[in-house]
Amino acid sequence: MRLVMLGPPGSGKGTQSAALQERYSVPQISTGDMFREAVTEGTELGKKAKEYIEAGELVPDELAIGIVEERLRKEDGAHGFLLDGFPRTTVQAKMLDKMLLGLEAELDGVILIRVPEEELIARLSGRRICEACGAVFHVANKPPAAKGVCDICGGQLIQRPDDSEETVRERLRVYEENTKPLIEYYEKRGILAEVDGIGPVKQVFDRISRAL
Ligand code: AMP
Repeated sequence: MRLVMLGPPGSGKGTQSAALQERYSVPQISTGDMFREAVTEGTELGKKAKEYIEAGELVPDELAIGIVEERLRKEDGAHGFLLDGFPRTTVQAKMLDKMLLGLEAELDGVILIRVPEEELIARLSGRRICEACGAVFHVANKPPAAKGVCDICGGQLIQRPDDSEETVRERLRVYEENTKPLIEYYEKRGILAEVDGIGPVKQVFDRISRAL
């Protein structure tokens, strides 16, 4: 199973990809997670990516393509993968096609999760992440038992710097401008399935499973 998950920030791509990873036993490849890890570790890549991420802008294509290329060379992706957050531009989508050609593989499908803009802003600006284990909470939809404290490991909950309302609006603008053209790109190839992203996680997961 080789899938691309498309959708604006806050649409639940990451959550659904994690669930699909379990169902299909293929690795979830999240470029956002890889970039954040590089920033935290202070690697050369992280230093280059940091300012773009914090401003809600896209990291330059060559950096995103480079990390995906490297990641796809690993053994665990040989029989499939879920791309979460990549491609984000048509340049990246074309490079992905090239990489797959080299691996003699094809995409099985592209899932587009749709969520209205106001809901995305509410989801992202209320999101809180555990600094220690990465668990995700929400001030209104999924509050922790004790304010600011992770239910799972007791770590401190923080807001991702790019989840502030101003940066969220910029990320959504960037999505409209750069990522929306991909919808047409994959639609023309007949491999795009649209899924309504409103509702409980399980319900959205069932819709994706039916689409697949
Ligand atoms: P995400 O967690 O997918 O929302 O990604 C967080 C941030 O990482 C984005 O706002 C971008 O700055 C950067 N990023 C992630 N994936 C890509 C990509 N494929 N191309 C360019 N920038 C990316």
